[in-house]
Amino acid sequence: MYRTNTCGELRLANVGQTVTLAGWVQRSRDLGGMTFIDLRDRYGITQLAFNMETNAPLCEQARKLGREYVVQVTGKVIERSSKNSKIPTGEIEIEATDLQVLNAAKTPPFTIEDQSDGGDDLRMKYRYLDIRRNPVRRNLEMRHKMAMLVRNYLSDRNFLEIETPMLIKSTPEGARDFVVPSRMNPGEFYALPQSPQQYKQLLMVAGMDRYFQIVRCFRDEDLRADRQPEFTQIDCEMSFVHQEDVLNMFEGLSKHLFKEMKGIEFDKFPRMTWHDAMCLYGCDKPDLRFGMTFKEVTDVVKGHGFSLFDGSELVVGIVAEGCAEYTRKQLDALTDFVKRPQVGAGGMVYIKYNADGSFKSSVDKFYDAEALKAIADKMGAKPGDLMLLLCGPAMKTRAQLCALRLEMGNQLGLRDPQKFAPLWVIDFPLLEWDDETQRYYAMHHPFTAPKPEDEPLLDDPSRWGDIRANAYDIVMNGTEVGGGSIRIHDRTLQNKMFHTLGFTDEKAAAQFGFLMDAFTYGAPPHAGLAFGFDRLCSIFAGADSIRDFIAFPKNNAGRDVMSQSPAPISQEQLDELCIKVDVK
Ligand code: ASP
Repeated sequence: MYRTNTCGELRLANVGQTVTLAGWVQRSRDLGGMTFIDLRDRYGITQLAFNMETNAPLCEQARKLGREYVVQVTGKVIERSSKNSKIPTGEIEIEATDLQVLNAAKTPPFTIEDQSDGGDDLRMKYRYLDIRRNPVRRNLEMRHKMAMLVRNYLSDRNFLEIETPMLIKSTPEGARDFVVPSRMNPGEFYALPQSPQQYKQLLMVAGMDRYFQIVRCFRDEDLRADRQPEFTQIDCEMSFVHQEDVLNMFEGLSKHLFKEMKGIEFDKFPRMTWHDAMCLYGCDKPDLRFGMTFKEVTDVVKGHGFSLFDGSELVVGIVAEGCAEYTRKQLDALTDFVKRPQVGAGGMVYIKYNADGSFKSSVDKFYDAEALKAIADKMGAKPGDLMLLLCGPAMKTRAQLCALRLEMGNQLGLRDPQKFAPLWVIDFPLLEWDDETQRYYAMHHPFTAPKPEDEPLLDDPSRWGDIRANAYDIVMNGTEVGGGSIRIHDRTLQNKMFHTLGFTDEKAAAQFGFLMDAFTYGAPPHAGLAFGFDRLCSIFAGADSIRDFIAFPKNNAGRDVMSQSPAPISQEQLDELCIKVDVK
């Protein structure tokens, strides 16, 4: 037997027992007469004591152990004279009687401590050592617990976990595909799934009724911060349901996770239409941990000779409560913030509503106290508040103000990662106009159903932008953690949708023929949703990065720095695949 116990479980109650432990040497302390070793495994740390007086050879052997050596030790559990209240095993130690080195170890390139001295790159290169550290290990344990809760919850509600293929024909989710060449079919390629979308819909046609899968998805997107080319979804689909049924089911799952993981109980999650989210928060994933909703003042500010406002489609602002004392420097910094290329505003107008009821603004030249009071009233500002205003084309200005609102939330400490604000955003537009290609794209994906009352608008191209979809996102703390839709199960409507998206019959048949065929054999009404599992884990942990919840993530350039992939392949492999590589 390698071990009788783990390094995390012995307590005072075990005193007197003879035990065998195995693990890694965390550290050793040589005090002359005594040598102490902290032995670590996934479950904890136990102190080993080696006594020079009673067993000199063993003590000598222990002194030679380096950090991260793998050892097996046998000894008696004894009560410690100086106890360590910081660890659960801190009241006992093992008086060692036997020691075996199972494997020597090179000194690790960084310290295996909660606060490691290793930089990001180094830790990723030696990720297996990084995972030995408590914070990373705990994240993976948490991920496992979440996955188990999800599986059990859905399984208890009749969902079947069914695997779908990884080598498929492209499923469009708006990103580029990763492709895999087929040796047996020269010149032909599989795509890796961006999601199992079409397969889960086929499973509904197949009568599986309720499907889920905790599944890897692949999207070859331009790398943005904290995106991974491969990531995991909790992918779900249900038959014979309305939107209400889907929202209730997955709200239930989310609440279950909050309760089990965080001990938090929620009432009903709030719901907001996409349109309201855009007008009140400037984005489709509002952070509801704080208010500071948008106040439109276009009508009130016009006609005072301030040409910038007079010529703008929208003048909109936020009220930062109690911030009238902001200094010139702080206001300049906010102006610089909105002018950064990532935000892109031309400038920012501020109005201080001083505690004594007077006003000070960056537009005093154009607005007297009465005019400023009218703006303050429209915005619901009180003495002591600060108003920040942006202007320009409506959608752009809202997006800019969204960034400013989040920045103010950060500055005022209103975005506590341990606070949770879930939200459903519903009624997304069905179609999204793309200026570059001058055509409409499906905002969610081409299988998403329009709201029945908006369906007639499909016949009027001038109204396509107004069509709402039966599509929904679940948002937490300003992050989209999941999304889905009611699907089109009617072939005629699906064909119409393809035409709207600019697919010819041939192109639609080539790309989606099998799904379209399936729909002719009795497709049930169905709907579904997918959660981003890595993201969900990071939000529950109050962490910023999804990388911390993936055992072996890629870096920001999409590389696995540990295995050094992607990498060239041999000429033989290329020849077999009939691929000519010509990298300039
Ligand atoms: N396949 C969709 C996605 O990956 C989710 C869904 O519609 O179920 O976003």
